[in-house]
Amino acid sequence: MDLAPRLQQLQQEIQGDVPCRLLAVSKTVPAERIRAAYALGLHHFGENYLQEALAKMAALADLKISWHFIGRIQRNKTREIARHFDWVESIDRSILVERLDRERAGLPPLQVLIEVAISGEKDKGGCTKEDIFPLAEQIVACDNLRLRGLMALVHPTPGEARKNFAQMREFYEQLRGRFTDQQIDTLSMGTSGDYPEALAHGATEIRLGTALFGGRPKE
Ligand SMILES: *Cc1c(COP(=O)(O)O)cnc(C)c1O
Repeated sequence: MDLAPRLQQLQQEIQGDVPCRLLAVSKTVPAERIRAAYALGLHHFGENYLQEALAKMAALADLKISWHFIGRIQRNKTREIARHFDWVESIDRSILVERLDRERAGLPPLQVLIEVAISGEKDKGGCTKEDIFPLAEQIVACDNLRLRGLMALVHPTPGEARKNFAQMREFYEQLRGRFTDQQIDTLSMGTSGDYPEALAHGATEIRLGTALFGGRPKE
């Protein structure tokens, strides 16, 4: 199926009581396909690999794309991430907060989400549940970062995923309750395989790669 009918179908599914943003995950997708997706109305794109993203940003500099970094962050890459992206969704430790804040100086604030390792799987990124609030406190004290909410990848098993989504929703509500003076409005959860359940649990952003662009070569 072409991108246009896929997108139309997805947008119908997303239309609910709560507005939800579709983040187009464009890792491995060439710049010209991103351009075509942009022309269809997608303006937020998520990338996992810095060098790949920088090349596409250069090729698409004429478009008003909001670029979201969603991959694992290596400490030595924070400067370029801070200077080229609009959002960083995968903050999971204190050193990244410190460095991104410092390296964003002189630009409009970077919009950030805390990634939570909600599935308990070891190899994935994300902070522990106990780290969410200390990291949030650290972020809101930064001049060059704006805390917007939480991000997670959930467990691949549907039953576990449902529990993970429900827990993320709870943490998100707690965060909103604690930081009423901040613009906490983003709960980013749900990918191609599980977004209907994420929507049912109040996701305000779903991150779709394969559902939009088709399969990727194996990573
Ligand atoms: C790749 C990726 C996605 C998109 O996954 P799909 O299954 O292709 O929709 C979403 N979130 C993160 C963090 C990713 O790395």
